[in-house]
Amino acid sequence: MENCLFCKFVNREYKTDIVFENDDFIMFKDINPVAKNHFLAVPKRHFKYLAEMTEDDANMLGRIMKKISELKDLLGLENGYRLVINQGDDAGQTVPHLHIHVLSGQKMEWHPA
Ligand code: AMP
Ligand code: ZN
Repeated sequence: MENCLFCKFVNREYKTDIVFENDDFIMFKDINPVAKNHFLAVPKRHFKYLAEMTEDDANMLGRIMKKISELKDLLGLENGYRLVINQGDDAGQTVPHLHIHVLSGQKMEWHPA
């Protein structure tokens, strides 16, 4: 996908510090962290909305979440963590390439609105 920041990270057109990568996704630190640890898990395949997923994409997303849960030390998940997927304007999605925010390393409030 042209002019997509996260595709450029995936295909190494732009550099970012990738902390984990496999066939499905890359992970790197969010540039504007909202928790002590704030990583982004970015599927290698470009799509914006969960609603666009094929069955294969859904399986891929399941594998990504399983893998995230296994990266306990790397992501600092030992005391709990939060996964967030912002979808569309009301949620404040700013990058039109689906990504999972992984937040950890501190107690978190719950105030979505
Ligand atoms: P969202 O608002 O859910 O679409 O999330 C996009 C996230 O991408 C935000 O948390 C931004 O801080 C993050 N972000 C934007 N540009 C970069 C970048 N160059 N490197 C790392 N994270 C970024
Ligand atoms: Zn993209």
